[in-house]
Amino acid sequence: MVKKCIICEAEAVYKIKDNSDFYCQDCAEENFADLTMLVKVEEEAQRLKEFLKEKMVDLVRSEEELNQMIIINEKKEDDKQDNKDRED
Ligand SMILES: [Zn+2]
Repeated sequence: MVKKCIICEAEAVYKIKDNSDFYCQDCAEENFADLTMLVKVEEEAQRLKEFLKEKMVDLVRSEEELNQMIIINEKKEDDKQDNKDRED
């Protein structure tokens, strides 16, 4: 999905931080003396990609942890069952 400049509708290159206003190179330079106010759209997309990648790693890791917990719990249940058997 290509973002469009809110002023001239050319393909946007910059985006205002914490905002969803997009600007092309020309309009950004015209309207903002300080381009550090802006982030590059492609950098933002890249950052989002990195963020999602990290999140996915977290998810996989916690799924592994979850499996471990399930295994441990099942073992505990088994132990309990064993003890009960012995008591009986
Ligand atoms: Zn523009």
